[in-house]
Formats: sequence, C-alpha cells, structure tokens
Amino acid sequence: MINEIAFLTCHQKETVVAPILNKQGFVLRLEKSFDTDSLGTFTGETPRTLTQVQAALKKAQLGAELSKCRYGLGSEGSFGPHPQVFLMPWNLEVLALWDRMNEHAIYAIFGTAETNYGSEKVNSLESAMSFAAKSDFPNHGLILGTPQDSYFAKGIVNKTEFQDRVMAALKISPSVWLETDMRAHLNPSRMRTIQHTAEKLSALLMSYCPQCKLPGYGLTEMVRGAPCEICATPTRIPRAEKWSCLKCDFTELHPLNEVAPAKNCDACNP
Ligand SMILES: [Zn+2]
Ligand SMILES: [Zn+2]
Repeated sequence: MINEIAFLTCHQKETVVAPILNKQGFVLRLEKSFDTDSLGTFTGETPRTLTQVQAALKKAQLGAELSKCRYGLGSEGSFGPHPQVFLMPWNLEVLALWDRMNEHAIYAIFGTAETNYGSEKVNSLESAMSFAAKSDFPNHGLILGTPQDSYFAKGIVNKTEFQDRVMAALKISPSVWLETDMRAHLNPSRMRTIQHTAEKLSALLMSYCPQCKLPGYGLTEMVRGAPCEICATPTRIPRAEKWSCLKCDFTELHPLNEVAPAKNCDACNP
C-alpha cells in the first residue's frame, strides 16, 4: 500500500497520531522489531548521541527500511527548563516523517509548558507524597531512584506501591531521587503534546513547495528587525516569516510588520 507509514514506537503514541494521519489518507503500521530505547532513553540508562531532530529522523528511516514501507515516522521528545521563563518546565516534541522514495523529510516541532516534568530529592514519605501530588500522580507515572540504585523503579502508577517503595528506599538511603515518568503511555500531558505535534504534521502534509511540489513547506524562521516607527532602528520585533523547503531550498519571505512600536526600540526607549 502506497500510503502506509511505518511507525517505530513502543509507548502507544499511535493512539493519538493514527487518527490524525488517517484523515490525510495515511495508514500507520507499527514496527516493533526494533528497540527504540537502544537509541537512548529518558532515564539515562543508554546515553544519547544524536540531536533530538536527528534521533526522530533516524527512527523514521529505520522504520521505513525495516518494514519496506515508502514512509516512516519517528517521534522524539525532550524535557527541560522553559527557554524564557525561569523555573517553568518545557516539553519539546518532534515528529519526523521520512519519504524513502523522494528521500525527503518533514519535521513537525511543537513546544509547550503544559507538562508535569519535574524531579526532586526527598528524605521523607511526606515530601515524596507532596512531589507525587504536584506531579498529578497516579494519573501520571513516576520514577524512583536512578538506574544505579538497587531500589530503582520506573512506571509506578499505584499509590500503595509508591508508598511501599519510597519507605523501603528510605531505609537504605537517607534521601531518594524522584522524577516524573515522561514515557507517553504513562504521561497523559505528553500524549496531548504529541497529538498537537501530529496536527502540525498534518498541516505540513497539505502545504506544498511552490518549486519542487513536495509537501512539508512551511515556516522555518521568524526574521527579526522591523524598523522603529520613530527612528527606523531595527528592533527585535519580527519583520517577516521565512518559509523554506528542506528539499530544494526554495525560500520565501512573508512580510509581517512594516514598523515596530517605539516601546520596543532600544534607541528611542532603551
Ligand atoms: Zn522544494
Ligand atoms: Zn526608535
């Protein structure tokens, strides 16, 4: 079947991705013969060597090759501090679609602060329970310890089990490390983010490059430098959107703001 997409996944991400891509005429085929954890895991048991976008593409290409499908889909999430707001967590998701026939990749990238991502070192059952409550447990899974600890456990979704494990760990160690389990099937917040990313991919699939006619044509950069309305000094306000094709390098500038308000000007309003 020409519109079959091989999806290399093991965390039920297909439940949110498949219905969206079905509407575009694609059918997802799960490829489970490869352990994606060997490309690196969130809990650090296997170190990662690729960037997030490279890792998503690698999974997409592997899936297409293993299944002999024309298309492959790869998913990769990352978690860390918000790029602008202090102490706010951030989830960045990438979906890469690889077209083996045209040797063409489409990337959907979506970032959000709607995540429970967090970690904490605790030394009592009370502080462990307050971390759990803050992390929306047991709706979301938790991880106890690090892979080096004898009491290391991931995917905890049961309150009694969590309490028992924390108490047992605190008998061995004065403090224990807790973190949110970010694997999609244990984390409904992340699952929603993957869904939004799939919607973005779906929009890109309908956007064709004016030159080479391949899909995936879209916004790649906000071009800063709209001139100040009073003194014409370039500001940080975007003056255009840059749309590019990753296959043939065709580029267009879509103008946004002809001038910027003086309050954004470092010369008039430093
Ligand atoms: Zn093109
Ligand atoms: Zn100015």
